[in-house]
Amino acid sequence: RGVVHRICAGQVILDLSSAVKELVENSLDAGATSIEIALKEYGEEWFQVIDNGCGISPNNFKVLALKHHTSKLADFPDLQSLTTFGFRGEALSSLCALGNLTVETRTGNETVATHLTFDHSGLLTAEKKTARQIGTTVTVKKLFSNLPVRNKEFKRNIRKEYGKLISLLHAYALIAKGVRLVCSNTTGKNLKSVVLKTQGSGSLKDNIITVFGMNTFSCLEPVTIFMSDSCKVEGFLSKPGQGSGRNLGDRQYFFVNGRPVDMPKVGKLVNELYKGANSRQYPIAIMNFIVPTRTCDVNVTPDKRKIFFSDECSILQALRDGLRQIYSPNNI
Ligand code: ADP
Ligand code: MG
Repeated sequence: RGVVHRICAGQVILDLSSAVKELVENSLDAGATSIEIALKEYGEEWFQVIDNGCGISPNNFKVLALKHHTSKLADFPDLQSLTTFGFRGEALSSLCALGNLTVETRTGNETVATHLTFDHSGLLTAEKKTARQIGTTVTVKKLFSNLPVRNKEFKRNIRKEYGKLISLLHAYALIAKGVRLVCSNTTGKNLKSVVLKTQGSGSLKDNIITVFGMNTFSCLEPVTIFMSDSCKVEGFLSKPGQGSGRNLGDRQYFFVNGRPVDMPKVGKLVNELYKGANSRQYPIAIMNFIVPTRTCDVNVTPDKRKIFFSDECSILQALRDGLRQIYSPNNI
């Protein structure tokens, strides 16, 4: 069972960014307004997500990291109208299998926090009282240390993994409203550097300015494209001729109902239509698709990054028409 568990876990947690993504989404699900991500040696030694969310109640301690334990899904029909990020109870269990997991947590009903240690199969092995504000800290040490091949890859690619993580955190920093995000990395003996810090403003515009700066923001224009009665996309795109993406995919962020997702087809479409205006650069694109939850399926890949729309063709066609009006209004 140990081996099978590790293999399955490796499909949910593919790399550093998917590991941290799960923890950040748990914090968002817990209603946190402040989330801190701390890394040691770019995440190779350990990483930690600290939140001020609702905390975990003591009667959940034992089952917390067991496979398929979730507190978020009351009954199956809920899958159709999913609004929380998590729902399958796989993240903590997978992280246990792939590294050393500890949790420190306190709800509003407790006066002290509890520090919990789990083993690789998700069993609670130690529990002690500690001081902490309301909220949860999840720490993962030595990710992948028990999967030799993956571990070697992980260490070899750590800077790349770290870069991918920062870009993912940018996505949350852009889209999360009213959530303060901080990310720091500690290297060597005690060299701590803050690599991302947002105040959790109330608008996408302010978030873009915080994350990318005023210069970048001034190259962008707000866009709203209606794709049908119930589907629209809102966001910011490079003004025609004012691309500043340095390479393909640079500063292109797509969301569905506020959830960061990969949308290669949309990315390709935006790049193509923009090229008419300026062939050498790529547009910056920050686009949130607002659609009824039942029209999309986020559950197709274990890491929930891929999205399928039930009528993808017509959505892409409507998007194409909308983008044409922005990038080549004379050729319609
Ligand atoms: P899922 O998010 O799919 O429910 P996880 O394995 O990610 O599964 O988490 C398991 C459970 O642990 C969650 O359902 C939730 O009850 C609890 N949990 C995890 N992280 C946090 C957190 N930061 N704050 C509060 N509860 C948490
Ligand atoms: Mg989760």
